[in-house]
Amino acid sequence: MQGVGFRPFVHRLAVSEELSGFVRNTAHGVEVEVEGALQALERFSLRLETETVAPAAVSGRRINEITPRGGREFMIAPSVPGMGELGVVLPDMAICEQCVAEIFDASNRRYRYPFTTCAQCGPRFSIMEGVPFDRERTTMRGFAMCAACQAEYDNPSSRRFHAQTNACPACGPQLTLLNAAGRECAIGYDAVRRAGDAIRSGSILAMKGLGGYQLLVDAGNDHAVRRLRERKHRPSKPFAIMAPCYEDAQTLAVISDEERRTLCSTAAPIVILRARGEGIAPSVAPANAWLGLMLPYTPLHHLLMHELGFAVVATSGNRGGEPIVADNLEAIEQLADVADGFLVHDRPIANPVDDSVARVIAGEATVLRHARGYAPLALRLPGHQTRDDAGTCLALGGHGKSAIALMSGSHVVLGPYIGDLEGAGARTAFARTVAAMTSLFSAEPRSAACDAHPDYWSSRFARHSLVTNIQHVPHHLAHVLACMVENNLEGPLLGVAWDGSGYGGDGTIWGGEFLWVQGNRYRQVGQLQPFRLPGGEVAAREVNRAAIGALFAVYGDVALTMTELRPIAHLSASEQQIYKTLLSGGFRSPWTSSAGRLFDAAAAMLGICATSSFEGEAAIALESAAANGESEHVLAAAMLREEQGRWIADWRPTLAALASASQRHEAPAALAAAFHDALAQVIVNVAERVGVGRVLLTGGCFQNARLTGGAVARLRAAGFDVWQHRRIPPNDGGLAVGQAAFAAQPMLEGPR
Ligand SMILES: [Zn+2]
Ligand SMILES: [Zn+2]
Repeated sequence: MQGVGFRPFVHRLAVSEELSGFVRNTAHGVEVEVEGALQALERFSLRLETETVAPAAVSGRRINEITPRGGREFMIAPSVPGMGELGVVLPDMAICEQCVAEIFDASNRRYRYPFTTCAQCGPRFSIMEGVPFDRERTTMRGFAMCAACQAEYDNPSSRRFHAQTNACPACGPQLTLLNAAGRECAIGYDAVRRAGDAIRSGSILAMKGLGGYQLLVDAGNDHAVRRLRERKHRPSKPFAIMAPCYEDAQTLAVISDEERRTLCSTAAPIVILRARGEGIAPSVAPANAWLGLMLPYTPLHHLLMHELGFAVVATSGNRGGEPIVADNLEAIEQLADVADGFLVHDRPIANPVDDSVARVIAGEATVLRHARGYAPLALRLPGHQTRDDAGTCLALGGHGKSAIALMSGSHVVLGPYIGDLEGAGARTAFARTVAAMTSLFSAEPRSAACDAHPDYWSSRFARHSLVTNIQHVPHHLAHVLACMVENNLEGPLLGVAWDGSGYGGDGTIWGGEFLWVQGNRYRQVGQLQPFRLPGGEVAAREVNRAAIGALFAVYGDVALTMTELRPIAHLSASEQQIYKTLLSGGFRSPWTSSAGRLFDAAAAMLGICATSSFEGEAAIALESAAANGESEHVLAAAMLREEQGRWIADWRPTLAALASASQRHEAPAALAAAFHDALAQVIVNVAERVGVGRVLLTGGCFQNARLTGGAVARLRAAGFDVWQHRRIPPNDGGLAVGQAAFAAQPMLEGPR
């Protein structure tokens, strides 16, 4: 493991055991050569395993005996660059406690220095241009260490011994505050102080963080937050906030032990927490029971938040839907009409990474946006022998929440979240990430894997790449395979893949699938009852359409005259007629089994959400509503029927019960809760019929903690072993891993 002070740790250990030899980084990992008394060697080996400091984790090791050289000293030898295995690049790490103490210590030479790090903390992936991790292959190479820093770097007893990011006010990166026009206003700590003044007075500050720009604004100032929404063209999607410290965070949200561990981890992600509903402007997260909250993770954040003493909105520095901006000139160009000022520095960002998002779901900290602190993530493919001949495969992921993966031999590495490939900026960033990742890992992809959907931009990218060997992977199978890789599972098992939509390959939109997997065979063994979606994908935004389609599936034509139901109530007579034509004829109304659209339908029927301005808005609103209503209410269960060897989970009785309960004006909160429970129960019922003891839950719907928690508890109670996602996002951000697994072992659709 590299970049976490592992070599200095090995050095201290070897010296204390009076061993000679060396430790060095190679592109394959860390190499240690030791020579000495047999007992000392054994103790060294044992201590190497037991005393390793977090976050270093040894993923595997190999020991060879060699002829003694008769050396006297133990050294940290120069690194050996070259073709690497995928797995030697560490994610960025939050500043450690010791470094925080230093920047607030007036007698320390790093007092108020915003780029303070040591061997245990600081940037890694975001500044790396190659492996292994040495200063000359990072964007720190432009900063020559001063004598004092060099002395620390060379001193085995210093925390900064071989710290590649070592820097101080005399020799390291520097801060500058620019006004909206890009003119210099202040430098050094004065820049921090004046940036703080600007935020305090309601201004929007663009700040160069670790992996890119962030936009910061006082989270208690409703007017300022609204201005940010207008300028960012982001009407209602919740903003994440940064609290000055953990104690402040506790006043804003309810935090469980697992949530605290995630919040305070070296990854320092945004954690989705139950909001207390105080201290934050209403426009930060409108109509939402949760708050995305993070703590300061760089010295710069600590200094600024200390100046302020209150929570700020901290959102990606980008224009609506585009990827995070990382370059200084680009920032001033693209954010000029969004930000009132810029807090910038001169350490370039080699690999832009957004803030990560995590949520504790069914007791497990689950990464929802895989970025800073988590990316890149290296995993071993389960059950595969190393196939050195296969070369590298580039897996291109989905369309929204795009992320790529590289697969080589039995290893796969998932890169950072890039963004939604609708926008031109994201497409450029996508191509850049492919180039940066392949170069960083010295990989030359000989094959590619992409989604089966031919119109996803990532699929088109695959076709236009120079690679001729391309695997098209069914969307939901990729979800299941990703979850299998993460949990090191092989079949037989039942994968429950529920999301918004994916290419079914049979001309329908999938989204509520039950896939059986064993060896290189898979089969769709179950599905949610399909319904017609009037207008197709438009329905993802116009949530009412999903409800109209679902109600039509329950009641037929009559549905369109049931004006006592909310989704129908607002329709004019001519609209009723149009929907009737669309739905009975099927014109521009494809069949879908989407679980996501079913949640949308329920949200619209309960009057919780009619249109959605961002992906998942209706489902979040429905879960929010459910959080406020514990129900003794039970909706009619879904019925199961067998059709052509598949179980169809017919939710129509559930939806009919929901419709009549809402007509009786029963509390939406209780009904929302009951709807979640009914769908969690369907999973158990199908799993029982399929009769495989192992079930895994994957797909964007399982970002819903109530659905996942309910399904996990019910499945366990019924005797199933259940697996869910933790490090790989359950949503489309994790698809690339499943595609890579498919490329390693292509699967055939076949009988059980
Ligand atoms: Zn440190
Ligand atoms: Zn220095």
